[in-house]
Amino acid sequence: MTEEHQRICLVHYHEIGLKGRNRANFENRLLKNIESIVVDYPVVTIHRIAGRLCVFLREGTDRATALDLTETLKVIPGVARVSCGFKCDRDLEEMGSVAVSALAECEDFETFKVHARRNHTDFETDSMEMNRIIGGYLCDAFPDKGVKMKDPDITVGVEVVQNAVYIYARSVRGVGGLPVGSSGRVVCLLSSGIDSPVALWRLARRGAECVGVHFSGRPQTADTSEYLVDDIAHVLEKSGCVARVYIVAFGDYQKEIMLKVPPSLRVIMYRRLMFKVAEEIAKRERAGALVTGESLGQVASQTLDNIRATDQSVDIPVFRPLIGTDKLDIIAEAQRLGSFDISSQDAPDCCTLFMPRNPETHARLRDVLKAEESLPIDAWVKELADAAEPHDYACASYKPPKHVVNASED
Ligand code: ATP
Ligand code: MG
Repeated sequence: MTEEHQRICLVHYHEIGLKGRNRANFENRLLKNIESIVVDYPVVTIHRIAGRLCVFLREGTDRATALDLTETLKVIPGVARVSCGFKCDRDLEEMGSVAVSALAECEDFETFKVHARRNHTDFETDSMEMNRIIGGYLCDAFPDKGVKMKDPDITVGVEVVQNAVYIYARSVRGVGGLPVGSSGRVVCLLSSGIDSPVALWRLARRGAECVGVHFSGRPQTADTSEYLVDDIAHVLEKSGCVARVYIVAFGDYQKEIMLKVPPSLRVIMYRRLMFKVAEEIAKRERAGALVTGESLGQVASQTLDNIRATDQSVDIPVFRPLIGTDKLDIIAEAQRLGSFDISSQDAPDCCTLFMPRNPETHARLRDVLKAEESLPIDAWVKELADAAEPHDYACASYKPPKHVVNASED
C-alpha cells in the first residue's frame, strides 16, 4: 500500500519569538542548512508547508533510508521535532489506509490517538470528524492497541493542506535551538579534548557560525592532535555546526616562553598568547566573541584568578558555556554529540608541551604583565595569525573573509 505513497519527513521548529521578517529569515536559513546536509539522501525537494518544513523523498524510498534521514535531521540546530510519514490525496478512505501504514511502522507502542489539522477550510470534513473517521480505521487495523487521549505513546498526525494530506506516526525530538547562521559568528578555541567540542556545539545550537582555532605543539611535537581535531570537526560538520578550523603551529613559541618566563607563570602565558591569536583571527573573520571549554575549577588553569588573567589579554567577549557544568555531564553531552571517543584518545598538543610541575593557580595580573613585557607579543600574534592554516567544512551560511588570511600561502 505505502509503496504508492511518497515518503516525507516533516521538520517542526519552535515558533516562539518568530515574528515578521525574523520568521522568514529563520525558515529560509533552516531550509538552506537542511538542504546542504541531506545531499546524500534521495530528497526531491524541501518546501515550507503550514509552519513546517516538508522534506519530500523520491518515490520508492525505503523505510530504512527514511529512518536514517530522521536521525540526520534531528541533530540539526533549529529542528525541534522530525516526523516521518507519507503524502496522500484528500480522500478519507485513502487517508485511513495511509494512517494504518504509518502506524504499522512504529514499534513498541500500546496506545495512540489521531490529531488532525485543516489548513484549508475548503476541505469539508472538520478536524474532529477526521479524528473520528481515521481513528476508526486504526482501531480496526490494530484491535489489540488502545486509544488514549492524554499522553498516548503515539500521536498520528494528519495535516490537510491545499492540494494534499501529510500523515505521520513516527516522531522524534530534535535538538531545538536556532539555525546556524542566524546569530553571527564566533571563534572557538578547539583542543582535541572532551570539553571544547561540546562548548562549540552549544554555541552552534544557538545559531552561531563556529570557526575553530587549534594550537598544535608542532614542530616540537607530532601533529597527532591536528588529525584528532579534524576528526572532531567532521563529526560536528554532519549537523552543519563548524565552518572552518585554523591550525596554528605553536610549539616554537611555547619553547620561547618556556625559556624566558618563570615556570609558575608559563601556563597563563601560553593561554594569553592563544587568546590573543584567537582574537586576531576573530577580527579577520569578523567574529564577535571567543568560546572556550573551560569549567570552573576543573584544572589548575581554570581558577577565577587565572580566568581573569587570561580574559584581560583580549578585548573581545569570551564565552565559556561549560563554566558551571560538571565533567560527567560534559562527558554525557560529548557522547551524544559523537565526539567523545575521538577526544578520549591521547595526543600531545600544546597543553602537554613544556608543562611546569607546579603551575600557578592564582596568577597575579601584575606579575603576568611584567613577565610579558620581555616578549614580542604583538609581532608573534601577527606571525601566528598569518601562518594559521584554514581547513574548511560544510556550513551552508559561511562565507570566508575576503582578504587573504594566510599571507604565507601563494
Ligand atoms: P578540553 O577538554 O576542551 O581540552 P581541558 O579540560 O583539557 O579542556 P584546558 O586544557 O585547561 O582544559 O583548556 C581549556 C580550554 O582552552 C579548552 O576547552 C579550549 O577551549 C582551550 N584550549 C586548550 N588547549 C587548546 C589547544 N591546544 N588549542 C585550542 N584551544 C585550546
Ligand atoms: Mg585540553
